[in-house]
Amino acid sequence: MKKITIAIDGYSSTGKSTLAKQLAKYLGYVYVDTGAMYRAVTLFSMQNGYISSEYFDKETLINSIPNIKLHFEFNPQLGYAEMHLNDVNVEKEIRTIEVSNFVSIVAEVSQVRAKLVEQQKEMGKNKAIVMDGRDIATVVFPDAELKIFMTASPETRAQRRFDELQAKGDDVAYEAVLKNVQERDYIDTHRDDSPLVMDDDAIEIDNSYLTREEQFNAVLELVNDIINKTN
Ligand code: C5P
Repeated sequence: MKKITIAIDGYSSTGKSTLAKQLAKYLGYVYVDTGAMYRAVTLFSMQNGYISSEYFDKETLINSIPNIKLHFEFNPQLGYAEMHLNDVNVEKEIRTIEVSNFVSIVAEVSQVRAKLVEQQKEMGKNKAIVMDGRDIATVVFPDAELKIFMTASPETRAQRRFDELQAKGDDVAYEAVLKNVQERDYIDTHRDDSPLVMDDDAIEIDNSYLTREEQFNAVLELVNDIINKTN
């Protein structure tokens, strides 16, 4: 069967990774969560004291880029790949609200983006990949056969992220999560390098009122149409 590239972009907590994981599992494709890569670079910056609520030492981070090694390792129990930073599994550490609060600032740095985009392009060179992020359709895979752009209201998204954090035992206020979602939306859509925009040939899905199954089935239909057309 013809292998394609599926690019999924959209705002924070729109369920991109849920959909991407479902598709990758069903199609036997590789799934890549590019947000995890930006989060890992952010964790590295925090661990080394380059970023805090008071300052951001961008130059030192840029000079340290060669010391940042990122790779994904498939976890058969979970059914997806986990993020490793310099050979340490950081999957849990990168999902905290502290990392979420700094990640969009780190993701504005062009030198960071260049390094991660290069790695992402390499991962997708044989197709059969589902990648989610903010610039996948516009920058990483402009020739992707299927481009999905996901949206939902900020309140719906904040509630989802809040529920996830609560389930993990992370005691955080809903208002703090909503503020983080709104701030990241703003920075991600206004930055100079690779801002979050819907690509011209992307298909928009507002999943505020869709179940996971409804969304998955709708996208699977699009995938099948493309595969049958290009066969
Ligand atoms: O997808 P997730 O919410 O984990 O992404 C975290 C942050 O990483 C985003 O808010 C955005 O600032 C940045 N990001 C990006 N480009 C990507 C993926 C994520 O700038 N392709």
